[in-house]
Amino acid sequence: MAIALAAAIAQDSEDRFNVYATRVAPQSLPLEGSGHPLMAPQAIMAATANFQQCIASLWPQAAARHVSRRTFEMATRGLEPELRIMDLLDTQPEFSKPIWDYVDMLVSDNRIATGKEAIAQNRVIFDAVEKAYGVDRYIIAAIWGIESNYGKEIGERPVVRSTATLACIGRRQSYFRDEFISTLEILERGDVPLDHLKGSWAGAFGPTQFMPTSFKRYAVDFDGDGKRNVVDSIPDVIASTANNLKLDGWQRGATWGYEVTLPGNFNFLHADRSVRKTLKEWEALGVRRVGDKPFPRPGDQGFILLPAGARGPAFVMVNNFRVLMKYNPAEAYALAIGHLADRIRGGEPLKQPWPRDELPLSRTERIEMQSRLAALGHDIGDTDGIFGARTRTALRDFQAKTGLVPDGFASVKLLERLRRSN
Ligand code: CA
Repeated sequence: MAIALAAAIAQDSEDRFNVYATRVAPQSLPLEGSGHPLMAPQAIMAATANFQQCIASLWPQAAARHVSRRTFEMATRGLEPELRIMDLLDTQPEFSKPIWDYVDMLVSDNRIATGKEAIAQNRVIFDAVEKAYGVDRYIIAAIWGIESNYGKEIGERPVVRSTATLACIGRRQSYFRDEFISTLEILERGDVPLDHLKGSWAGAFGPTQFMPTSFKRYAVDFDGDGKRNVVDSIPDVIASTANNLKLDGWQRGATWGYEVTLPGNFNFLHADRSVRKTLKEWEALGVRRVGDKPFPRPGDQGFILLPAGARGPAFVMVNNFRVLMKYNPAEAYALAIGHLADRIRGGEPLKQPWPRDELPLSRTERIEMQSRLAALGHDIGDTDGIFGARTRTALRDFQAKTGLVPDGFASVKLLERLRRSN
């Protein structure tokens, strides 16, 4: 599932939005590699020459996990690496799409309509899954819709080949060795047939894109045929996805978050995931649900999120938003899932406009922004174009000192202001 891959890449990158951009929308734009020594052309050539020996050397680990020699040979005989995956592993797009483009693309009228159909067609299954796992059908349908357009786009790459390539070549070998051996375990148990085990370049497969290790943790046999087939069995897909969210802490009967308006005197330093208050406390500070609807669960705790800064829509995010972020640690992704779920349920579009006139910063400009903040004495961590908590805090400090709204949103205007300060 998205979670494992995203977690894998998030180890290298705090830039959750870019993780998402890389995963979902590889674009033919100017690209730059990580510079990691294992990603250098010579290292990749050497690892490719050694590929068969590397795979053979994984046999004892596979055997220790009860993979039979027969399954190992069936899966690995004649296996060749796919080197194109190295480009996909190691590219950072120079430009990423702004969040509103992701939300528009992922929460389309077509995806909303197909989601309603998917729920109507599978009503009996959803009834049983909601009862068993306590996860709302609209969220599951939204994940299904966003991960694979309801099973129509699950990826064509054989999972064995992708995970074997990544297990023996490039900079994430130890992570992907576990994915590769977990893939062999799936074959050993016969949960999913070899020729149906296809997916993304990183090995996520099936309509809700389970990674092999997430499959091990979360997959369930809901149709009772003895196999956890998260590719071909819709009951297994729906229940396994619900089980994933449940085990990650999904709160039954609660939503993911609410679109809100902020009062004129709002302290923007409070729009931070570390500042958590109950909905009742936020209300006392003047935060209102759009449409003046009351919060149904005023005792729930949440934080204020401004995904496009003070000029864009505001949200208060509760526990289940954090669960969606575990599934895929990208704000744009979690917001799109939550909003698509609401729309499939019959909810309205977001009320507040996005600041569509803002140009997203290029990677080069992000690096420049960090260098300029560092030159002013701010601690921003590595100057790598990846905006983590420290860069955002530095941005807020700079905004506050120069009399700007301290929302931590990196805009072209803010970069221009920084250029004048250096
Ligand atoms: Ca089954």
